[in-house]
Amino acid sequence: MEVQQQELLGLSSGDLCHFLESLGEKPFHGKQIYHAIYRLREFDVASMTDLSRPLRARLQRCSRLTLPKPVLVQHSLDRTRKYLFELDDGEKIESVFIPEEHRDTLCISTQAGCPMDCKFCLTALIGLARNLSAGEIAGQVLRMLKDRENPSSAMALQGKRPRLSRETFKPVNIVLMGMGEPLLNLENVSRALLLMADPDGLAIPSHRITLSTVGLIPKIHELARSPIVPNLAISLSATTNEVRDRLMPVNRKYPIEELIQACEQFPLRPRQRITFEYVLIESINDSDEDARRLVKLLSRLRAKVNLLPLNPGQRNGMRSSSPERIAQFQRILASKGLPAYVRRPRGADIFAACGQLHQTQGQTVAAS
Ligand code: SAH
Repeated sequence: MEVQQQELLGLSSGDLCHFLESLGEKPFHGKQIYHAIYRLREFDVASMTDLSRPLRARLQRCSRLTLPKPVLVQHSLDRTRKYLFELDDGEKIESVFIPEEHRDTLCISTQAGCPMDCKFCLTALIGLARNLSAGEIAGQVLRMLKDRENPSSAMALQGKRPRLSRETFKPVNIVLMGMGEPLLNLENVSRALLLMADPDGLAIPSHRITLSTVGLIPKIHELARSPIVPNLAISLSATTNEVRDRLMPVNRKYPIEELIQACEQFPLRPRQRITFEYVLIESINDSDEDARRLVKLLSRLRAKVNLLPLNPGQRNGMRSSSPERIAQFQRILASKGLPAYVRRPRGADIFAACGQLHQTQGQTVAAS
């Protein structure tokens, strides 16, 4: 009797071969299963027709393939889609699919909740439930890509009729900017990055993957040595330790100057830059002085800055800087040669924008 069911999602091709071997089967079937999951997006062993019928029957008994289950898909007017996924143990996470003209961006979660307690972020309100496994991280990508290729499945949840998609062949960018602090779950994140970047797996090149962190310095060094090194984004959002201590408690442990020093040591490809995300909050971190300090702080780095208007929903009565203030802040950076972009919030009408990921279960937010 085969009692314990082996979870297949999240295993590397080699791990799958070992598993088949441990069953007394030919190891190469592991490669076929890997190909079926990550290339063909076939999530049911019973339908993996490259495998013999008896092998499929056996695998159905002794293994399982558990993808995050979409329980709600909300469609924004700007065509951004927010997924509420339920995990095997009932925990909920959110992921966002952002279609753009020349690429699709998938924003994925690395933890259920987040313990970092940044004062402007809604995810902070739920605290940390747990880390996600490598399979749960890669599984969000698999689900959203399958919907992109076969829009009927995403629409079905909404009771909508599918529209034919021209998007299928656009390149995919992955941003680890959903719920959670990826560097608190680096082991599983690294394994998920291997699945994503593997040319025989999801085949998303590492330069199309960005990991965003509050700035856990020892983990930044560890990431630099990991097998797949993604682009690095740092959520900075202040130019003095006094203000950053208040907005992002992590700063009390890893202050700004040390964080910038760690960034200076991060390996970059030619023409690659480190992204600094800066949430603009009225009268807190948006002065001309702040802009000039930011230029100085980043002067020894190959950096670019993403300016994020504070998305609504936050606590403590904080408000976004005005469009004029944001434009002026951007002008100061640009005039000193620091590339700076103002990020248009996507999916704000469905609370899918940065810092708004917060279990929507039970809420009746109108979807498009
Ligand atoms: N923990 C990681 C990954 C989450 S990314 C990190 O902090 O980098 C979430 C991004 O959204 C961060 O860049 C953060 O600065 C930004 N963000 C959080 N709350 C926001 C808000 N209310 N408005 C705009 N951006 C916000």
